[in-house]
Amino acid sequence: MTIAFVDGRVFIGDGKILEHATVLVDGERIVKVAQGNVAVPNDARKVSLAGMTLLPGIIDCHVHLCLDAGPDPMTSLIKESQSMIALKAARFALQTLMAGVTSVRDMGARHGVDLTIRDAIRSGMIPGPRMLASGQMICMTGGHGWQMGREADGPFEVMKAAREQIRAGADVVKFMATGGIMTAGVEPGSEQFTEEELRAGIQEAHKAGRKPATHAQGTQGILNALRAGIDSIEHGIFLDEETISLMLKKDVPLIPTLSAPYNIENKGTAAGIPDYAVDKTLRVKPFHLESTRMAHKAGVRVAMGTDAGTPFNVHGENLYELKRMVEVGFSPTEAIQSATQIASQVLGLEQELGTIEEGKLADIVVVEGNPLEDVDILLKSEAIQLVIQGGKLVKGEW
Ligand SMILES: [Zn+2]
Repeated sequence: MTIAFVDGRVFIGDGKILEHATVLVDGERIVKVAQGNVAVPNDARKVSLAGMTLLPGIIDCHVHLCLDAGPDPMTSLIKESQSMIALKAARFALQTLMAGVTSVRDMGARHGVDLTIRDAIRSGMIPGPRMLASGQMICMTGGHGWQMGREADGPFEVMKAAREQIRAGADVVKFMATGGIMTAGVEPGSEQFTEEELRAGIQEAHKAGRKPATHAQGTQGILNALRAGIDSIEHGIFLDEETISLMLKKDVPLIPTLSAPYNIENKGTAAGIPDYAVDKTLRVKPFHLESTRMAHKAGVRVAMGTDAGTPFNVHGENLYELKRMVEVGFSPTEAIQSATQIASQVLGLEQELGTIEEGKLADIVVVEGNPLEDVDILLKSEAIQLVIQGGKLVKGEW
């Protein structure tokens, strides 16, 4: 059956906005996008968009469905059974979808639980966003994220670790180029994998047609990853002129994940977040905000990612990241574009997702009012009226 969305504001995803537009969906695909009234099949289900805005399904480029967003999720994670981690992840996947997030890229899970969740969603067994999964993140021995990662040292082992993730079914391979916040005893600014180690792993990912991504916070680690041929920079806390110009030259996107430090600072040690995580966050946060501003101003492609699952960075509150982006100078339109068109490019799915265009998969969110003027609208769950994934209604009523 054809679904006809009529008389509404449509955000295409590339920055363009149509008013009083019609969008036709047939099966799982968008078949028509037009300004004004167009011929609608008689038996089509008509959905009026009066007072609403239709957006492409939101894409979160950086989540961890294995982390529970408690005060110390890494420590609680290693105490939990593999089956409990998977059950919780299934629940978090549903919460994420209900927020209008129809696709995610999972950036690393203990035991590679994200691979199982992805397959369960793909087969229709459980509801959740379309997922690209990375399996276990690859880090140096004792490096950031070792609690949930595959430790590897030296180019040969990093290459082997990448091959293991690909064998297990990873869509993306994640490498840890620097220290981070949530691991005790490592510094966000410190270099971890060397350029040679990163190059060995990145080549393996590219050979297998996968996009490698890197957790990269310190300047030297970011530089190593860029020189080694990485496809995206996650966090990018200490960017400088050199790293930004290299990102522009190589067209490498930044996924800042502003929600992660925001929530750690906001809740603090009083909420049970470990001292070391709060201390590190307070030290690096001004640099992180400034780096994001610089990258945005310089014209680096910035994609939305939350790092959902980190302390109080709750699955299903993903769209708060858009507010964080607006706070550092993005317009609401730019922020939403970063979570649709640009995010689809980061996933390598720009032919299928990310914009409202004929031929694309019908991943659609219909929201009350106009989030292109006020992005805060997207933070209210009742404002997310309809969530459609591949032409199927997964939230709301029509
Ligand atoms: Zn992360």
